[in-house]
Parts: sequence; C-alpha cells; structure tokens
Amino acid sequence: MIGSLIGNYKVISVIGEGGMGTVYKAFDIKLERYVAIKVLNAQTTNKEQFIERFKREAKNQAKLIHSNIVPVYGFTDESQVLGIVMEYVEGETLEHLIGRKGRLELSEALNILKQILQGVSYAHSKSYIHRDIKPSNIIISKDGYVKIMDFGISKALFDKGITKTGTKIGTLLYMSPEQVRAEEPTKQSDIYSIGITFFEMLIGKTPFDLGTEFEIMEAHIKKNPSRISQALDTIPPEIDKIVAKALDKNPMKRYLSCDEFLEELENVFSKYQTPKTKAEKTQNDKKVKSARIQKIKITFFGLLALAVFGFITYYGFYLVSDFWETMKGRRAAPSADTTINYRSNPSFVLKSNWKYQETNTTLNLNGIHFIDDSTGFVVGQKGTLLKTTSSGSVWETIVFPDSSILNDIKFLNSTNGVIVGEFGKIFTTSDSGNSWQQVNKFFDETIFSLYAYDRNTLFAVGDKGLIIRSVDAGKTWERLNSGTNNLLFSLYFSTNKVGYAVGWNGTILKTEDRGDSWRATESFTPQYLRDVIFVDEKTGFICGGGGEIYKTTNAGKEWNQLTSNLFSGLSGILFSDKNNGLVISQKGEINQTSDGGQNWTSNHSGRYYSLSRVEATPSGNIYIIGFHGTILTNK
Ligand code: ATP
Ligand code: MG
Repeated sequence: MIGSLIGNYKVISVIGEGGMGTVYKAFDIKLERYVAIKVLNAQTTNKEQFIERFKREAKNQAKLIHSNIVPVYGFTDESQVLGIVMEYVEGETLEHLIGRKGRLELSEALNILKQILQGVSYAHSKSYIHRDIKPSNIIISKDGYVKIMDFGISKALFDKGITKTGTKIGTLLYMSPEQVRAEEPTKQSDIYSIGITFFEMLIGKTPFDLGTEFEIMEAHIKKNPSRISQALDTIPPEIDKIVAKALDKNPMKRYLSCDEFLEELENVFSKYQTPKTKAEKTQNDKKVKSARIQKIKITFFGLLALAVFGFITYYGFYLVSDFWETMKGRRAAPSADTTINYRSNPSFVLKSNWKYQETNTTLNLNGIHFIDDSTGFVVGQKGTLLKTTSSGSVWETIVFPDSSILNDIKFLNSTNGVIVGEFGKIFTTSDSGNSWQQVNKFFDETIFSLYAYDRNTLFAVGDKGLIIRSVDAGKTWERLNSGTNNLLFSLYFSTNKVGYAVGWNGTILKTEDRGDSWRATESFTPQYLRDVIFVDEKTGFICGGGGEIYKTTNAGKEWNQLTSNLFSGLSGILFSDKNNGLVISQKGEINQTSDGGQNWTSNHSGRYYSLSRVEATPSGNIYIIGFHGTILTNK
C-alpha cells in the first residue's frame, strides 16, 4: 500500500489503526496537499449494500463544516480499496494526550470539553448523531483546535453489525446505557459519551473500566460514577454535579442539548479556565484558594482518621512480612492503580512492570538491536539513531546522514551493521555504528525489517512483496522472487534452509532452500500479519491485526489461532522457548504467556503509545520500543 497511488492519492505512511481499518497519510497529487485516508478492512468492505451505504455516509459527512470537526473531502473506491478521504490533521489524539500526561489539568480539560461540545452541537443542529465519541476520535491540532473525527462512519458500520466485537470493547467504555441495551442512540447518547470523555480527561481513566465486557455494560446501566472531587483535591464538587448530570442513566435527565451543557459550564469556565489578564488571574486564584481551604477543612478530619488507620494496618503488615522482600518486589513492580496515587502523583500512569528509559526524543522508534548486553542501537523517524553502551541507562543521539524514516537495524558482529528505511534506503557501518554509508539504491519500496541469517548474510523485507538478500554484510543486495505484491513485514528462519515471511492480507510465504525461492501458503485471515518467530523447526508463532495470534506445531502446515484477549493490532512477538513469550500491541499493551500461548496475562506498558518492536539481548533482557520515543525494559 505504501508508495502506491490510489486515484489522486500517493500513500505515504501508516498513521494509525482502528477497528474498521487503517488510516494512511497520503498526498493529493492534484491539489498538492496532504490528506488522511481511512481504508476499510477487506472483511468490512466486501458487502455491496454496505459499500452503498458507506458512500452515502461519506457524502453526508462531507456536509459538516465546522472548525471542531475534521472535514471529509470524499471517498475513494479505486482498485477495490474503499476509503474515506479527510483532512490530514497534524496533532495528537486526546487518547494519546491523556496517555502521555496521565490526566489533564481542569482548565485544559474544560477547554477541550468546550470545543467538543461546540462541534457536536453544530452536528446535532444538522441532525447528526456521532454515536462513538471517545478520546481516540478527538484530535488536537498543532494550533490548538480540538477536532472530532469519524462522524457518521460508525452509523454505517453499526447498522450492518459490521463492527467487530473487538472494536466494541474500546467503544463500550464510552457507550450510553441505551446503546448498551441496543436501543437507537439519540443526541443524549452523545452527551453521555462526552461526559465519560470529560471524566477520563480529569482522572486518567474512564469511570466503568472494570475488566470484562459484561461488567462494563452492567455498570453503564446500574452504577454511578465515583466522585472526582473525592479523588482529586484540585477538582471542585461542582464538576461532580456536571459529570453526574451528563451521565444520568435516564437520557431525559441529562443535558437536553450541547448548548444547555455549554451554558451550565459558562460559570465554571470563568472560574477555572486559564484566565487571560493578570487581574482576572489574581481574582481567579483567590476564588480557587478559598474553595480549596474550605475543602481542606472538611477533609482534614477524614484524612486524619485514614492516616491513623493506615498506620495501624501498615505496622501490622510490617511485623508479619519480610519487609525487605516486599520493598524489593515493589521496586520491581510499582503497582500504582489506586486512587491514593491520583493524589500523590499528578503524572499518574497505569500499572506497569516495565521501566521507561530516557531518550530525549518524542519521535517514533521503529527498530532495535543489541550487539551485547550493554551496547544497543535504536532507529526511528526522521533519521533517528540512538546508541547506548550502558544497557539503556543513557541513550545518546548519533548524527545520521539522512532524515527519512528508518525502520530497522541489525549488526552481524560488533563492527558491521545495516540500517533500512523508507524509499528503499539501506545504510551500512563498519565502525560499530559511528559512521554510515548509503548503499546504491536499485528500488524504491519501503523496507520494514531485517533478519541476520549468519555472519555475512542478511535478508530484508518490505513493501510490494520485497525480499532482498545480501551475502556481504549489506554492501550489495539481490532481489529475490517472492511471488507476491503484498507488503511483507517480517521474516524468520526456523532452520538454515526453512524460512517464513509474513505480511499484508494474511500473507505467509515459505522457503525451503535458504531463501532462493518462496511460495505462498494458504491464507486463513484477512488481517495483516506483522511478526513471526520460531522456537524450533516445528513450533512457531505469528501475530497481526485485530489482536490475532497463530501457532504452528508442524512447521507451518497448520496454524491455529490462540486467544489473545487483545483486539488492537499486534506489532511484535517474542518467544524465548516453547512456553515463554510475549506480544506487544499498537495500544501500548504487553501480554505475556508461560504456557505456549494458551493463557495470556496482561501487563500494560502504562501509556497508550503504539509499541513497534520487541527484542531480547544475548542474555535475555527484553527491550520494547514504540512511538513517541518509547523505550521500555524489564532489565
Ligand atoms: P475506531 O476504529 O474505533 O474509531 P480509533 O479511533 O482508534 O478506533 P481510527 O479511527 O481508525 O481508530 O484512527 C486511527 C488513528 O489514526 C487515530 O487514533 C489517529 O491517531 C489517526 N487519525 C485518524 N484520522 C486522522 C486524520 N484525519 N488526521 C490525522 N490522524 C488521523
Ligand atoms: Mg476513530
């Protein structure tokens, strides 16, 4: 897909992935501007009736013109690719923003809420209901505008029941009680979802995030959200009232319109939104202060009681437990998922056993390789090359001679290494990564990953069925006949003769002659397959889109799907032996298994950034890299 021309649009890169398909950045060669194209999954698109309806929705959507709604330019159905073309918004989704900050300050949350309400109010005035308001559908542009995406797309999908159950989970957290009961949503349903989104901005998580689908649905119907002001000192009780009204179980008791919601907020805006003049600021500070003092007084005795209780419990615990063991365990696995932490740690993030390493970059990282346990390299967007000689305690930036996207890096020994990237670019080093030379280009396809086969031989795979091989440590390359045009993401040899390559549209290729010839094996999923690994000549694993994981125990003759409990695209899989492995996802999830993939335990990275690759050092320390400069380790 990348590099290809769909109608007027030259596809440049993948921006993100959701339940319905993949969003690409593309260049409109006629109008000379960037656009975003949401390309629907093959499985979503092969129903004729649906296509008609989808086109109609896109047309309708294009009529919504408002500064808080992402404009839809049109749709494309060229060469069986069904996509919706919209403005490319350079910015950050609200989901990312919350993930990155843990939670938002009240003034920032109010500013975003106001703009969401303005956009939705406009759409409601044109008789549109969004049906799927949630932070991943809200993007904050570089210049500070809040823009709502996906107006109407959801209707086309929900009506036909096409949305996968997997997609529902993400959406379920924001779904109104009437939608949970499968009743027709109204404007009040959007108001409910906006209420949940507001709650999440303030606290860092949604009110009914209870684990199973059943519990979430039941909570929407029966449970009241907790009071935010109780968990956070900085939130005044009037915010609780507003949230409670937006989240009333009875739609008629919610705000009857976005305008009514906005009106009620006016009061709060003037008090808590960042004031513009100095005079306003002092006045505002006074108001906030006196409200705080009042609150502190009220909560003082409550806290005192809690402290006494806490001390007694803690002391009792101290006496009966091995104190140092506990402390050690805690340091290794900081468990932070309690409301106490919202108070004590303003940059609260979700539970995580993984340690973040400082990188000084917010660019996306795509490839990683460790030469030994201490020396490693990471490559990424805009010619990013990072190096550590201290197992990642310090990552320094190495100046790189090119600023395109770098996708992968491998070293064959301690001095010779190769980097691959977009536009068919290949670079080699023979001085341990200090200087890099570009290899003469003979094709333009983006290269996604590298595989080090032996001390001199490397393979690489990429767009349009690209498989290339070098037998001289990357200096010269030959293109092999893969027999496919599908993008290939990853390649792995299970023996010195037998290898597998996986990619787009469920593609699995196999070679039995050291890579000289490749043939496609029967496809069993329309999802993309992103990574492949074998632990011996028979046992291998593949992960891909829609949270799918497959396992073979007979050298790829059959692949059986494992239950992963994940629904977002999986981007990497690593097994150290037949039993122990992990997968990483594009929503920051990390799932581990110790029984060959029968059961998986979830261990979120703590942030929602897409994770891109997982790699082990020679002695088995694990590193995971991802978007926004993310490097995690369990070392
Ligand atoms: P769902 O499928 O339930 O809507 P989602 O919102 O996470 O889930 P998509 O709508 O497919 O998934 O969007 C995926 C990602 O693509 C978004 O999170 C966003 O980062 C990015 N994106 C989507 N549309 C645009 C756009 N017009 N401009 C820039 N980025 C976009
Ligand atoms: Mg979306």
